[in-house]
Amino acid sequence: MFDRLRLGMASRLLLAFAALILPLAAFAAWSYQQSLEERRENVLQDQLQLTRTAGAVISGQLRDFDTTLLASAHGLAAQSRVLDQSSVGPMLEALAQRYAWVQSIFFIGPDGTIEATATGESVGTDLTAHPYVRALAGGADFVLADSTAAEDGRQLVVVARAVRPVDGGYRGIIAIAFYPERLSELFPGTLPEQTRLVVVDRGGTLLVSSGTGARPASTIGLADVPIVRTALAGGVGSTTEFLSPLDGEYHLGAAVPVGDYGWAVMTTRSSDSVEAPLNDRFRRDLLVLGLVMLAALLLGWVLSRALVLPLARLARRAHAFGRGESTEPIEVGGPPEVRALAEALNTMSREVQARFNEREAALEEAKLALDVRDQFVSVAAHELRTPLTALKGHVQIARRRLAGGVAATDLEPLLRRAETQVDRLTGLVSDLLDVARISSGGFVIEPEPVAPAPLIRRVAEIEQALAPGRRIELDLPQRLPVIDADPPRLEQVLINLVENALKYSPPDKPVRIAAEVVEDRLEIVVQDQGPGIPAEEQEYIFERFHRASNVDRNISGLGLGLYISWEIVQAHGGDLTVDSEPGQGSAFCIALPIEAVEAEEEHDEDPVRMES
Ligand code: ADP
Repeated sequence: MFDRLRLGMASRLLLAFAALILPLAAFAAWSYQQSLEERRENVLQDQLQLTRTAGAVISGQLRDFDTTLLASAHGLAAQSRVLDQSSVGPMLEALAQRYAWVQSIFFIGPDGTIEATATGESVGTDLTAHPYVRALAGGADFVLADSTAAEDGRQLVVVARAVRPVDGGYRGIIAIAFYPERLSELFPGTLPEQTRLVVVDRGGTLLVSSGTGARPASTIGLADVPIVRTALAGGVGSTTEFLSPLDGEYHLGAAVPVGDYGWAVMTTRSSDSVEAPLNDRFRRDLLVLGLVMLAALLLGWVLSRALVLPLARLARRAHAFGRGESTEPIEVGGPPEVRALAEALNTMSREVQARFNEREAALEEAKLALDVRDQFVSVAAHELRTPLTALKGHVQIARRRLAGGVAATDLEPLLRRAETQVDRLTGLVSDLLDVARISSGGFVIEPEPVAPAPLIRRVAEIEQALAPGRRIELDLPQRLPVIDADPPRLEQVLINLVENALKYSPPDKPVRIAAEVVEDRLEIVVQDQGPGIPAEEQEYIFERFHRASNVDRNISGLGLGLYISWEIVQAHGGDLTVDSEPGQGSAFCIALPIEAVEAEEEHDEDPVRMES
């Protein structure tokens, strides 16, 4: 999914953290809801208990009034005296002392006017208009009149009983009147905080409201509240939530009937007050969760940066490397995986660089080889041309002389010179052939036991004959060991060295050939007093076509002689080396392994000191 959305590493990490946090938040919300319901249920149970108690207290009070009035009514019924202030007053006064909180206790005569009161006031007041007076006069024994208007216009509750002698008749009414709100004094300080206690009359009208909150208007009807309706119908009602008409807020509450007096008592608690502690806790939980989430996001961000930044840096470096802008190694750091990647990139870059360098070197070499070839072709052409031109000159002269009548025998010197040129050409061509053989691996020697001294002497003689004006010195010991060599090839090497010595050194300087046994090798040294070879070029002169920078370019040569010689000596298992100092001359040394010390050749002559 992440791949399809093309999300970066940082976003993925953040999403993963968020995905961890969300179930936690959901769980917190669920457990909050659970606790809320539990708490509502618990509080409701308490509330129900409280309501039952309140109902019992109020109905107990009404029953108490009832029994008191019943006893008093019996007493009055049995009275033979006229029931007036003087006869009834003291009894009423005693009752008033017992019920200090009631408004008034009075006796109404059969005509409906007050005959006696506890204080003696209001005697003579006509109460015939009150329904309860009429009901009792009409035959009822007991009336609980809950909405009786008092003189001051306030609402009074009147508990009244008819006074009827046992033999019949009707002597009046004894009644207790009280303001309903005084009922709340029955619960001094017992109502828990946040709780409102409400008593409604049988019509659902509020009689008492005590406890928390503003005292609501007493005209409020509560008959529409379902639990009140239930209680008025004699049942027990309870609910965890209802909209209270008393303050327009949500409450939980319970309602029970007040004995069999037709009233109901209800206690309520605002939903807010019930939920507040839980809400506080939930808010705290949410805050903590939010902080945790923030911390997680922060951590995710920091982590992802720690991961992503080195990767991005690696990517940038890899791009730079790919474009060839940088070959610097990438610094290795960060988490192990990133370090491994950096190291891998560095290895790759090194490899690529090395291969690149190799290719460059190969290219350079190839270019050099091409240059050498071009140079060689021109030098070789020039070298071949020189003897050819000379040869052609000699032939033309000979023809001209023959045509001029010169005797053929007189052409002898000319023909000899022509022959020399042919020899030179042959030499050049055979050098080229040797190089071709060496390159193709077809170069072989055929060794046989050779006595070195005669061979060396022969070469000296040939070279001396070719260069009669030069001095060739020979320095051979009396005994030299027999060696295993290919005689024409060894001769070729020696000739090449002696001819080089003659060619590069001034005509007045001698060339010396010496031979001696050094340890298990025979060393033949050809020494001259020529220009020498610069130290830095000495290792190159044995390479193909290489000619030292200090030679006179007029001296002809292909740069092949030493190369072929070196190959020949190597094929013999020996070494060809040079010891030279510019301006001091050069000494080329052929070192060859000696086959067997016993097989020493002895030559008859004295140690040779040949000088021509
Ligand atoms: P060539 O003589 O045809 O140039 P060689 O292979 O025989 O080729 O010699 C290679 C180079 O070594 C010569 O061009 C010259 O620069 C140098 N060299 C060889 N022999 C001598 C020498 N005796 N004295 C000075 N330089 C020499």
